[in-house]
Amino acid sequence: MSRIPESKVEEIQSAGDVVSVVARYVALKKTGKNFKGLCPFHKEKTPSFIVSPEKQIYHCFGCGKGGNVFNFLMSVENISYIEAIRRVASDLGITLPDYRPADQKVTDAEYDHFYHANQIASEFFTTNVSNHARQYLQSRKLKKETLDRYEVGFAANKWDGLLNYPKYKSVRQDVYLELGLIQKKEDSERTFDRFRNRIMFPFFNLSGQIVGFGGRRLNENDQPKYLNSPESKIYKKGTILYGLHQAIPAIREKKSVIIVEGYFDLLRLVDEGFQNVVASSGTALTEGQARLIKRYTDNAIISYDSDDAGIKAAVRNSQIIEAQDLNVTMVVLPKPYDPDTFILEKGRTAYTELLKSKILPIDFQLNALQTRNINLALEEKYKLIDEMLEDYLHIPNDVKIGLYIHKIADKMEIAESFLISRFNNLKRRYRFRAPEREEKADSQDGYINKGQWRAEEDLISILLLDKKEVARYIFEHISTEDFVNDHLREIFEILVHQWEDLGHFSLKDLEKSITTESGINLISKLSLQVIQQPLKYAVGCIYKMRKWHLDARYNEILRLMKEESTSSKSKSHYTKELTEIRLRISDVENERQKMFNTKI
Ligand SMILES: [Zn+2]
Repeated sequence: MSRIPESKVEEIQSAGDVVSVVARYVALKKTGKNFKGLCPFHKEKTPSFIVSPEKQIYHCFGCGKGGNVFNFLMSVENISYIEAIRRVASDLGITLPDYRPADQKVTDAEYDHFYHANQIASEFFTTNVSNHARQYLQSRKLKKETLDRYEVGFAANKWDGLLNYPKYKSVRQDVYLELGLIQKKEDSERTFDRFRNRIMFPFFNLSGQIVGFGGRRLNENDQPKYLNSPESKIYKKGTILYGLHQAIPAIREKKSVIIVEGYFDLLRLVDEGFQNVVASSGTALTEGQARLIKRYTDNAIISYDSDDAGIKAAVRNSQIIEAQDLNVTMVVLPKPYDPDTFILEKGRTAYTELLKSKILPIDFQLNALQTRNINLALEEKYKLIDEMLEDYLHIPNDVKIGLYIHKIADKMEIAESFLISRFNNLKRRYRFRAPEREEKADSQDGYINKGQWRAEEDLISILLLDKKEVARYIFEHISTEDFVNDHLREIFEILVHQWEDLGHFSLKDLEKSITTESGINLISKLSLQVIQQPLKYAVGCIYKMRKWHLDARYNEILRLMKEESTSSKSKSHYTKELTEIRLRISDVENERQKMFNTKI
């Protein structure tokens, strides 16, 4: 729980505006009372992301994510609840007291402990530089200004360097342990520094807080070469990109991002004035990282090492990025350079020239194929083509696919029509194997839109319209037990209590009672569903819900009759019950007819 008083949070929430906050990340268009745009949380071509200024919530009807302004910032920036409140507050010019634990022993703002501990470690790494480290740095020929900007530091070659740093004691030890900055000795309570004799590269989140570190060995005999922070409350692998926080303004300005592999590649480029650069740190990009890039630009330039591993990684990552509908090009360096050594040796202008001659990944692949395999056997040729086509299945852009197919046809000397039918074949097979992500989005948290659940959902949407006579009608006909979906039953129950206590419904109070992510997503959806003629609609929902229960009972009895087809006595008992249910179903049907015929 936050130490920010509840009343303050409410003040901030009601003064803040979800539309203007969301508009910084999503291009919004006004449609009726609401705004619409492309969801930042999943890929889509037609907008299903709705923001309501009236209700101060957002919801994506594609992937199901939703909530209030704080939930949005938490998801989009990957920050804590407290941090999200602070952001909205600072936009409004409301100053919140600093919850950092510098002079307090323990605060409830757990996340801040973690950021603060990393900040202390970074201070330690940047202030305690040994001669050895200084020499190493000089050999790298990087400007101090660049190193300062990225807070590049050095972990001392000691077991207790950080432990004895004066500010160390201002944060609890268990925080350092979870962050992996210190470790416990086996079978002992004694602790020691985890990072020793390493160059330290802090990982910043988008708000400029340090979430973890990458440590490169200084002594070539130490293992491993790179030691990274473990995952923690504030650091999830594959969710951040090294250097993105610093690069955002330049990426926006240049309308493109250069992606390199290593920390030193990045620092070299920045040193030479290429500011729009991020590092993927050697591993394959995740879909989340690619989406992160997409948030700031549509154009990515991959500039990796010239060795085989670098080229392989470049091609693979270009596919991951293209799947997010970005334009990708590759810079091909001459062997044996990487961007760092190339610029150091050949200079900035030579690299600028290379950037100009960047090529599409497909051209690179086709060129490589041509030089390697001049006389491909026919089967080999088909196999290679299939492999390439399979990679394009993920590209959400038909024009691009058309262009690529054309290029393959041209270079491999194959009829384009053949490739197109081959591609469509693969597409059908792929669809059969793996359902599209957008289709999967519906079943979050085991939540599937069955007919009954749909009626339950709609009924709650109707209640949230807060129309008294409609609510009264619903409560007369439906009770908590009629709900089969647990989440929806829980929400219904809260609404029943609100009705009894307040005589109306409060979305704000509902948001407070439901705290799970899936619950928040559900509420935003329910409160943004468009319902016309609510009473008529409610009659339909109630009918469906009651009929569903009766049908279920009916089928249950049929099953029992089959199983226990023994005595004629039990048979007649069941038959009677079946008749009863049939009567009740027709009752429900009649009532619905009656309601529809009277003017409501
Ligand atoms: Zn979405």
